[in-house]
Amino acid sequence: MKTRKPKIKTFYTSKMALSEISENTSESPQKPRRIIEYLNQQNLINHFQIIDNFLPFEKQDFYIAHHQEYVDSFFSEELNRRYRRMLGIKWSKEFADTTRYTNASFYNAILSSIKDPDTICFSPTSGFHHATPKFGGFFCSFSGQVIASTKIYRDLGLSGAYIDLDAHHGNSIDNSYDYISDLHLAIPPEIGNINIEGKNTEYLTNLELELEKLKKWIVEKKIHYLVFCHGADSCEEDDLGRLLTKNEWLECSRIFYNFVANLDNTHGIKIPLAISLFGGYNKKDFNKVLDLHAQDLMICIKTLCT
Ligand SMILES: [Zn+2]
Repeated sequence: MKTRKPKIKTFYTSKMALSEISENTSESPQKPRRIIEYLNQQNLINHFQIIDNFLPFEKQDFYIAHHQEYVDSFFSEELNRRYRRMLGIKWSKEFADTTRYTNASFYNAILSSIKDPDTICFSPTSGFHHATPKFGGFFCSFSGQVIASTKIYRDLGLSGAYIDLDAHHGNSIDNSYDYISDLHLAIPPEIGNINIEGKNTEYLTNLELELEKLKKWIVEKKIHYLVFCHGADSCEEDDLGRLLTKNEWLECSRIFYNFVANLDNTHGIKIPLAISLFGGYNKKDFNKVLDLHAQDLMICIKTLCT
């Protein structure tokens, strides 16, 4: 039985993306707009309810997970040179402003899923999971997950888990435990950041094993919400992908959404679910990245939404 509402609540505003194509290696600064445009072109947008009136983050929000010096430099007239090289994205004031919205979209999607577990929420974002307290790195400006979960834990006392299937295992959560005293409660280190080892069938088996472990935490009410981050760069279609065939990548979506359906139906636990995009690179045809994400979202709808 499908138990979630038909439409995916999507936290998107054009302020989340750069207005012009830049010469970045990463498409992350454009990705929010490009996925929404793609869903439109494919006549899929009617499955998504767009929410665009959420407030951007203030510096105060970024201070939760990052050194004040880095945050202040990021939102100043010019990012200090020593931070620029690590980031890998051409910094501009406009880019800095987009991060206020991408991080707020991510937080609001998770918060909204908690307030209304019947509705699956979506933040069309990437560029979080390599940032550390001291600086951004590898196309990731700020640790969106760390900020979102810390805020949610402090306000609501709830703990979350991230299923991060990006090819590049996220390090921002692990690297922040020493910096944030209550992060281990917001994102339990034993289960809160799920990255999968192996390739191909071994990867699929390991995903199932990790979800089995996660189920125990959910049933015991120690994990209260999930965030699914199905980075496209784990798929062989991607410029950086080498872990999974396209079928296997889509099988990961089916395994995960069926896992959630099983919690709904067999265990009577409607765990709040938010979705984000994470990595995806294709110099020749970025639509291939967008198509993977769109197919993932359609599997979600087919599996869970009435
Ligand atoms: Zn990646």
